[in-house]
Amino acid sequence: MIRGMAITVREDLAGIPDYVPGRKIPGAVVLSSNEVAGAPPEAIVKAIAEAAAEINRYPAWSSDDLVDKLSERLAVEPGRLAVGCGSTSLCQQLIQAVCRPGDEVLFSWRSFEAYPILAQVVGAGARRVPLTADYRQDVDALLAAVTDATRLVFVCNPNNPTGTVVHADDVTRLIEGVPEHVLVVLDEAYREFITDPEVPDGLKLARERDNVAMMRTFSKAYGLAGARAGYLVAPPEVAAGVRKVAIPFSVNRLAQAAALTALDIADELLARCAAVVAERGRVYPELRALGYDVPVSQGNFVWLPLGERAMEFNEFCVERKILVRSFAGDGSRVTIGLPEENDAFLAAARDFPR
Ligand code: PMP
Repeated sequence: MIRGMAITVREDLAGIPDYVPGRKIPGAVVLSSNEVAGAPPEAIVKAIAEAAAEINRYPAWSSDDLVDKLSERLAVEPGRLAVGCGSTSLCQQLIQAVCRPGDEVLFSWRSFEAYPILAQVVGAGARRVPLTADYRQDVDALLAAVTDATRLVFVCNPNNPTGTVVHADDVTRLIEGVPEHVLVVLDEAYREFITDPEVPDGLKLARERDNVAMMRTFSKAYGLAGARAGYLVAPPEVAAGVRKVAIPFSVNRLAQAAALTALDIADELLARCAAVVAERGRVYPELRALGYDVPVSQGNFVWLPLGERAMEFNEFCVERKILVRSFAGDGSRVTIGLPEENDAFLAAARDFPR
């Protein structure tokens, strides 16, 4: 027998789609990953370069300086905090820390693509609840879908990819309506782009309630998608579990330095979000006027529910060197970029034969 022939990987992994990297087209307008356009400020580049000079040393085990600064900034005790290699990692750690075999994670669909994948990787069940006809997360349907096996309910606020939000009254109804064994997780990756005053502050809820966790990231508003850092605020026992299952040193030295500096220059970085919000306010009505059924978005992206024509629209954009993120049979998500990038996308939307 050939050595190694008896070694197999879990059969269920065949059901997980391979990651399809975004196409590399030189000079393309990249509106496919909800990043913030524009190079990082000098202070960030300098902090990363300084950290690089000590790259022979392991980083702080639990990102102590970053946790301390976040604790102060967010007015949250360090015991309720966990820093992770992006909030994607925190999402996985949370499922790992909370779910036992047979347990389930509940979320709306369509939502952040990582939820079902991470649940499956960890060995938890994933239960999807359809969005409403107007692309919103349906709190009543989520409540009705909770079972004895449910441990986590993810609420993506605003929802990726539709941009729609869940208002405070509905979030409260969910938090108060779930049974005691369920933790409500507010994924606020796009928090800084919200202008709707009816959207609750997940940080406040995570501080005040014992069945709420909240995740945010440095990838979007802070412009550090390439660095990989995010944070979670949760009840102390949950946060401790999330810290325990982390891969040691996964928030690397460069990411910690970048995130610390990003907090120092938060005002400058958040000013860029205001520009994105202004552009969103320009792009949205134009798309509506063109006849696209775009829901109101509170993220740095818009959703074109093109159904069966989503991939056709995707190719139409690629031909014009515009990269968007499309989901076959469902729709296309387009990041709000710089004004000239948005103009290029709007021109494509205008010319797309319908
Ligand atoms: N949550 C949502 C809803 C997202 O869209 C993303 C990024 N696409 C994340 C979490 C994770 O971001 P990161 O891992 O870069 O922090």
